[in-house]
Amino acid sequence: MRMYPDTLLHIDGAWRPAASGRTIAVINPATEERIGTVAHADRSDLDAALAAVARGFTVWRKTSAYERSAIMRKAASLLRERAGEIARLMTLEQGKPLAEARGETMAAADTIEWFAEEARRAYGRIVPSRAVGVTQLVTREPVGPVAAFTPWNFPINQVVRKVSAALAAGCSIIVKAPEETPASPAELIRAFVDAGIPAGVVNLVYGVPAEISEYLIPHPVIAKISFTGSTPVGKHLAGLAGQHMKRATMELGGHAPAIVFDDADVDRAVAVLAGSKFRNAGQVCVSPTRFLVQSGVHDRFVEGFVAAAKAVKVGDGLAEGTTMGPLANERRIPAMEALIQDALQKGAKLATGGKRIGNKGYFFEPTVLTDVPTEARAMNEEPFGPLALVSRFSDADQAIAEANRLPFGLASYAFTESAATADRLADEIQAGMLTVNHNGLALPEVPFGGIKDSGHGSEGGTEAMEAYLNTKFVTRRGR
Ligand code: NAD
Repeated sequence: MRMYPDTLLHIDGAWRPAASGRTIAVINPATEERIGTVAHADRSDLDAALAAVARGFTVWRKTSAYERSAIMRKAASLLRERAGEIARLMTLEQGKPLAEARGETMAAADTIEWFAEEARRAYGRIVPSRAVGVTQLVTREPVGPVAAFTPWNFPINQVVRKVSAALAAGCSIIVKAPEETPASPAELIRAFVDAGIPAGVVNLVYGVPAEISEYLIPHPVIAKISFTGSTPVGKHLAGLAGQHMKRATMELGGHAPAIVFDDADVDRAVAVLAGSKFRNAGQVCVSPTRFLVQSGVHDRFVEGFVAAAKAVKVGDGLAEGTTMGPLANERRIPAMEALIQDALQKGAKLATGGKRIGNKGYFFEPTVLTDVPTEARAMNEEPFGPLALVSRFSDADQAIAEANRLPFGLASYAFTESAATADRLADEIQAGMLTVNHNGLALPEVPFGGIKDSGHGSEGGTEAMEAYLNTKFVTRRGR
């Protein structure tokens, strides 16, 4: 494999450039160098992908669950064999430390395997009938060809959740993967292709996201939409899907509260939350963002957390010892600067960090703000960067009210040694996910998704398969 490959489209079983020959540049966020290109699909490429995905569906839905499962497991093992090289591509294009890139690739293999197993368990049921001789069957069918749109923060993980669930259910799929980070998701698709997936079942395109979504979502061939990205874009695409009566899974932004109670193991809270906050430079939809810390442990928590932030080794993700890479694209730098500036103006205190590092590469300091007022923009908009916002609370009512204040409802974190407090949070926190005293989110076998403005549907657990299956009721009178 070359140092960094030019990425092609994958349509109808073949790797090919765009019909027009157009490409988009790919930039290494650690060096700002142009490292390669990705093919830029236009309407004729999308038409070819649509024809292919329609044909692919007729083949794949007739492929037995046993065989689908076997091909998927082969893809998982190819991915594992190739993880070292794929991780290097991901770090070059996205910036995250090599260990994180490798971890993401290995986790993707796990995801494929888990869905491969689920493929064989898409059970229907028999409902007892009111009349002798009548059989009432509930069967599950693949919903049809899928259009999936994925972002640049987890180039492989965001694709694998959608592709694996779709394939397990018997659907074909067109993936519009991220133009900023195209090579590693293309390697994921290559693992499926090399494992023997029939032509047309998995197709991969890149281009102008809005042009592609506006064309694919309303298209009659497409039966199901899955999108991961920001809330404003998600609302727009969900509207489009609704107009055309297409089923949609929406995995959107979050603004996770992390509540640390007086009775918490503070050292553990610091270690878990700092690890979660600075992973992938905070560009994670479930990243803890609003740190709500009870007065009795506030100062101790801040001291520990600031020390952890200062210990983060920021650098090129390929360099030995780096624990946080650059932001993935240039536009995140002014976005971070504006949020921090605004919070400071409104009275927040800077405990550490706060600015860009150097002027080559999109590096940003791990940043901690304390006493952040709720009217600060950062307390209301997803920062999507290495920014922790700490504020104090006196009782659980206050913490729960603040946790539920925003329209987002994706992840939430809590640290308490009290089972009663944990039970109350489980009951009252408005979020799709709550993790108490550890970070246990995002495993293939557990639900992953949000409520309120964070979207709807799940990308993990058995719920993820549901999104790609239709229910059909058949009643038959035998005699
Ligand atoms: P953005 O809103 O421009 O784009 C977010 C993602 O959606 C990108 O991958 C983009 O290619 C895609 N997109 C944008 N418009 C689209 C359209 N009309 N049709 C289909 N896809 C479209 O923001 P950005 O600058 O790339 O990222 C910043 C914000 O996006 C963050 O603040 C965060 O809220 C959100 N985001 C969320 C996730 C997530 O995991 N939920 C991932 C990446 C970005």
